Amino acid sequence: MRFQIETKGHYDFIDITDQVASCIARSGKAGGTAFVFAPGTTCALITMEYEEGIIKDLTALLERLAPQNTEYEHHKRWGDHNGAAHIKSALMGTDVALPVQNRVLQIGTWQRIVFIDFDERPRTREVIMEVFG
Ligand code: ZN
Repeated sequence: MRFQIETKGHYDFIDITDQVASCIARSGKAGGTAFVFAPGTTCALITMEYEEGIIKDLTALLERLAPQNTEYEHHKRWGDHNGAAHIKSALMGTDVALPVQNRVLQIGTWQRIVFIDFDERPRTREVIMEVFG
C-alpha cells in the first residue's frame, strides 16, 4: 500500500496518522505490525506529539545540529544545497514499525505519525506501508 502527500519543504511537519489508519483498515489484517516507510534522503518519518511548541523546539534542535547555512561536503560533490536536509534525515530515520490490534493502531493518546520534509522545495512525497502478521 502507498499514498502520496504534498509537502512545502523547509521543515514541513505533516501528520499522516489518519492516512496510515485508513491503509490498515483497507489491509484486511486484524493485527500485526504496521511498517511505514518514507523513500527519500531529505525527509523523516517519526512518532511525536503533533503540537506547535514541540515542532518549534525540534526544529530549533535540528537546526543547531545541522544548520541550513553551513557548507557541507555534499554541496561540493553534487552542486546542490540540501546537505543539512540529508543530515537531518539520517539522524531522524525514515521508518516506523507500530503494533496493530483489532484493526487499530496501538499508539499513545497524543502520539502521531509525522512525516517531516527538510528539503528546500515543495515535493510530492510517497509513503509506503505494509501490515505484517
Ligand atoms: Zn542533495
